[in-house]
Amino acid sequence: MEIKYDYLIVGAGLFGSVFAHEATKRGKKCLVIDKRKHIAGNIYTENIEGINVHKYGAHIFHTSNKEVWDYVNTFVEFNRFTNSPVANYKGKLYNLPFNMNTFYQLWGVKTPQEAQAKIDEQRVEYAHITEPQNLEEQALVLGGRDIYEKLIKGYTEKQWGRPATEIPAFIIRRLPFRFTFDNNYFNDTYQGIPIGGYTKLVEKLLEGIEVRTRTNYFEHKSELEQLAEKVIFTGKIDEYFGYQFGKLEYRSLHFENELLETPNFQGNAVVNYTNREVPYTRIIEHKHFEFGTQEKTYITREYPHEFSKDNESYYPINDDKNQTLLKQYQQLANKQQHVIFGGRLAEYKYYDMHQVIDAALSKLNEIFKKS
Ligand code: FAD
Ligand code: UDP
Repeated sequence: MEIKYDYLIVGAGLFGSVFAHEATKRGKKCLVIDKRKHIAGNIYTENIEGINVHKYGAHIFHTSNKEVWDYVNTFVEFNRFTNSPVANYKGKLYNLPFNMNTFYQLWGVKTPQEAQAKIDEQRVEYAHITEPQNLEEQALVLGGRDIYEKLIKGYTEKQWGRPATEIPAFIIRRLPFRFTFDNNYFNDTYQGIPIGGYTKLVEKLLEGIEVRTRTNYFEHKSELEQLAEKVIFTGKIDEYFGYQFGKLEYRSLHFENELLETPNFQGNAVVNYTNREVPYTRIIEHKHFEFGTQEKTYITREYPHEFSKDNESYYPINDDKNQTLLKQYQQLANKQQHVIFGGRLAEYKYYDMHQVIDAALSKLNEIFKKS
């Protein structure tokens, strides 16, 4: 069979699409396939009643990487959305991330000095923990018992399906902790949502490139591979190798969607439910990501879920067992001369969008420098 393409790109998510776009720009011929019926991978948005619904979970673009920010802005314009979730703990509301508004709501403290004194008082019993070994210890050392019990413990244990003492400390260090009245969830320089939805961004990346959806690589592997010089694989690394060492585990999610005949359900894009008794972790009201003024609203309750073959794989599990397994698969991957593994499933990495774009651009530069 004649080789028709330089690259067969498995996966029309962000990694695959950035790679396809850049390789095409450099004169290479690409074929992009995806087993789903749509492009854009997990950042796929679908227009429902004029609202761009984030079908695989809420996505907010944030980065301090100017190169990546300038890059995405060449394809779509971003709005001024700033993520400022609210936490609902047993019916009482608190601002997130942990900031002066939160401290006021928790303790009535009004100045940074009062807040610092209150936190110091709360942390005193954990002063002996010099190197936090898990998320619980880290959270207690950072903010003390009240913050941990009301805003962290229940949410975290629902999200990850295990005690906070079995979750790595770094996960909670993602969240800002500040002594200003600033509800911005991220510390990054740039933030926003693509006007028209994330699918539009990916459509622009893939403009002029051959894309076949509903095409599973494993069902057509031998024919597809004969068509191209090289494969860019953004699916699961363990699946690629037939799960020969066992399956990498993920935390999954289940989404319950509702279209409501009201213009405004909760007044914010994201409301987290931080107590254990509520089975979902958060409710997303999609229109608020884009300041929508439609008559109806679309909401999604997000339920964390055990991973099984029928569920989507969302969050990689960062524990020794899975990291050891990953290393075994990576050793096999390194021997595959004609395949490049990239993206959150192939690298089994908790990647944000800006990091995936950066990874795809870096991989590309590496390849084109060599050739
Ligand atoms: P994917 O988007 O998963 O793309 C991989 C594609 O490969 C999929 O379309 C899949 O169908 C396809 N594929 C797999 N196997 C095969 C096969 N055998 N044959 C054909 N096709 C195949 N990042 C942020 O920056 N901000 C956020 O707010 C944010 N929120 C998130 C919320 C949730 C719930 C989750 C899970 C992630 C979030 N992320 C966020 C991370 C973001 O989703 C990822 O960084 C990004 O989508 C990864 O892109 P990717 O191309 O690596 O993977
Ligand atoms: N978290 C929490 N309470 C909240 C929000 C987050 O305890 O209201 C913890 C939780 O452990 C979560 C981690 O902080 O896994 C990181 O939060 P982030 O919003 O970054 O999670 P994402 O869904 O983006 O992975």
